[in-house]
Amino acid sequence: MQTTLHKNIIDTADGQEADRILRNCVHCGFCNATCPTYQILGDELEGPRGRIYLIKQLLETGSSSQQTRGHLDRCLTCRNCETTCPSGVEYHSLLEIGRRVNDQQAPRPLPARALRKLLRLILPYRRRMQLLVRMALFVRPLLPAKYRRQLPDKPHAPVPLTRQHARKVILPAGCAQDAFAADINQDAQRLLDKLGINCITPENDTCCGAVSSHLGAEDEALRFIKRNIDSWWPDIEAGAEAIVHTASACGLMIKDYGKLLADDIGYADKAQRVSELCLDISEYLQQQDLAALPAVQGRRVAFHAPCTLQHGHRINGAVETLLQQRGYALTHTIDPHLCCGSAGTYSILQPKLSQRLLHDKLDTLLTDKPELIATANIGCLLHMRSASTVPVVHWLQLLNG
Ligand code: SF4
Ligand code: SF4
Repeated sequence: MQTTLHKNIIDTADGQEADRILRNCVHCGFCNATCPTYQILGDELEGPRGRIYLIKQLLETGSSSQQTRGHLDRCLTCRNCETTCPSGVEYHSLLEIGRRVNDQQAPRPLPARALRKLLRLILPYRRRMQLLVRMALFVRPLLPAKYRRQLPDKPHAPVPLTRQHARKVILPAGCAQDAFAADINQDAQRLLDKLGINCITPENDTCCGAVSSHLGAEDEALRFIKRNIDSWWPDIEAGAEAIVHTASACGLMIKDYGKLLADDIGYADKAQRVSELCLDISEYLQQQDLAALPAVQGRRVAFHAPCTLQHGHRINGAVETLLQQRGYALTHTIDPHLCCGSAGTYSILQPKLSQRLLHDKLDTLLTDKPELIATANIGCLLHMRSASTVPVVHWLQLLNG
């Protein structure tokens, strides 16, 4: 695709990156075939090819519009289009630039900015999220059913593990996951303990930065990222062999730290090392000898691979293999490449589309009558719990039996 970016944009880092990405797109439209918003809305501008054109137009003319913003906002950033694209177009990076430039040229209306600020003030903070969950538990009977289903039965009471092992990994607690489902990391610790591996859970780390980044607050995201690197670095220097994540979205963000801080003299090397050490727990477990795990009574499970796992990490089949090796029967699912509609803050900012995708996803997961749904990311897990008729769990919890 030929480009002539606006003189005010072409010499910026965003301009150079966007120009490089745009030139890879050959406008074939293959990506539209797997785009969930294109499938639902049937509009060229609600698919990746149309959005790429809108971003190109924005960067060439330098003029933004509310209409462009709407089309870009309705994108889930699921990256399904990247998996389909034969030309390797890094759509998500282009989208981030497009959203950023559009917001700089034409700031959002005050109510939209206020809602985004509110989300940024709550979601990335572990203690604030824990307080919110505690308050919600207090008024649980008064809440709508979909919110009641997302809450834990009671506040989490950690069970410390006492065995010491030579092998250690860092297990970040995250933000929302620690408030809503701290049992996931507790189960990861129990599982790794059985394999002779200790989990280090640093107290001072924080959100991976994805929430701020997706809401356009890049500087805030970088502050979170640097705090995490500072928090993990002493244990990395002491020999932690990996940073293992149980939320595929957060792990994907951490794998990007090296790229995001590549130009930061003080952090570039450390960020690169952190990214190299980061593994989704499915990747990590694939490298381990699981013979020490006790037998489990396998059940019929529908696995939903989050977009961040299949289109971001590009990990396909690893979880399914691990579950089948442990005796679980995977049920047949239709359109496993499609997003469940959770997509970070999408379920809050685009509720209608998000609900449509959720119900379509649950229909396809439940067709073959599983006893459980398993997934690999807290956002998808909570979103599906809000409406599922069968329990929704993190897949690694099934390995413990
Ligand atoms: S992003 Fe890829 S699949 Fe989509 S139009 Fe461009 S080249 Fe084709
Ligand atoms: S990221 Fe997902 S929703 Fe957005 S254009 Fe690509 S396939 Fe469509």
